[in-house]
Amino acid sequence: MPSANNPLITMDITKIRADFPILSREVYGKPLIYFDNGATTQKPRCVVDAIVDEYYSVNANVHRGVHFLSQQATELHEGSRETVRRFINARTSAEVIFTRGTTEAINLLAFSFGEEFMKEGDEVIISTMEHHSNIVPWQLLAARKGISIKVIPMNDRGELLLDEYEKLFSDRTRIVSIAHISNVLGTINPVKEMIATAHAHGVPVLVDGAQSIPHMQVDMQDLDVDFFAFSGHKVYGPTGVGVLYGKEEWLDKLPPYQGGGEMIQSVSFEKTTFNELPFKFEAGTPDYIGTTGLAKALDYVSAIGLEQIAAHEHELTIYAMQRLGEIEGMRFLGEAAHKSSVISFLVGNIHPFDMGTLLDRLGIAVRTGHHCAEPLMRRLGIEGTVRASFAMYNTKEEIDALVAGVDRVRKMF
Ligand code: PLP
Repeated sequence: MPSANNPLITMDITKIRADFPILSREVYGKPLIYFDNGATTQKPRCVVDAIVDEYYSVNANVHRGVHFLSQQATELHEGSRETVRRFINARTSAEVIFTRGTTEAINLLAFSFGEEFMKEGDEVIISTMEHHSNIVPWQLLAARKGISIKVIPMNDRGELLLDEYEKLFSDRTRIVSIAHISNVLGTINPVKEMIATAHAHGVPVLVDGAQSIPHMQVDMQDLDVDFFAFSGHKVYGPTGVGVLYGKEEWLDKLPPYQGGGEMIQSVSFEKTTFNELPFKFEAGTPDYIGTTGLAKALDYVSAIGLEQIAAHEHELTIYAMQRLGEIEGMRFLGEAAHKSSVISFLVGNIHPFDMGTLLDRLGIAVRTGHHCAEPLMRRLGIEGTVRASFAMYNTKEEIDALVAGVDRVRKMF
């Protein structure tokens, strides 16, 4: 089955769906329709197989092992780093730091960057639409060091106000930290332009790529981004593994985040010298099996092609907005000109929790609530939304079922 009516989309959705065993299960006796991909994506068989295979046939702790298995596991782990490097077009694999996910990546950077480069009165710029993961680490730094947080406002369509952004810079601005794509509004922020603005002020930028990495080509060198964070589980990979990309010239200057094994060169009770990049930031045994799973997921995505995936998801989004928009009382939150496959909505006065619970009974998994973006909810003047977020394996037929389900719930109230 072709993806849609668009002749440019050649990927075979039926074949892709067959790669994801969970998609053929039922919930409450109904075929599962999984629209909670913004929270986490499902895993193709090849990812799970790679994890199982490594546990069964290669498992050994990585780095410094003289024995065969350890060397093989190390090769797999470092090969995965190279796969990530290629996927995001970093200059060297030393710029790819493995973390537990986006959250840990941002915490790492806020801590290390804050230690080295920020003091009382310095400022960080974030935006109205940040996930708590890109707010709270800066607040922790603010509490520790007395820095202040400035927030880029947005318009009612969910687009950041770039003129206001420019005005936030001062001689105390030390870093900008912004989401590439909002996990609530689906807005694709013009990060390349925003990075250029920050650089014109001599300020580095961290991009939270949790929601962009599964949906669009990201190129570290083209964006000229200084730091970039993402999670494996949102891009068809396993939980518990993610990445902080950083330009080598920045990472070289930053102090370690955690201490322990792996991140040292030598230790005495008097003094420790730290390991080279990227190991300086990777204390303890890494999730070397998780990194294998992540690399497999990225290879899977690459084989299908991000352009194909993006075109298919764009078509689904346009279709869903149009069909859902026909429902009486429908209100979309987030109607930016550049929007990814995340749709937040409310219908009349129906509480998102009620909508989500009733849709669930129809086999449709959506997310409801504040989506870890309470300040954004406050800006929108609401408590929460219903969120449907699409992935490469979703179909128009599933959207039809969502539309019918939402309308059915509406009629019940
Ligand atoms: N940033 C954004 C924009 C997100 O959507 C999420 C997760 O939903 C995160 C950060 C946090 O990701 P994780 O929980 O994988 O660390």
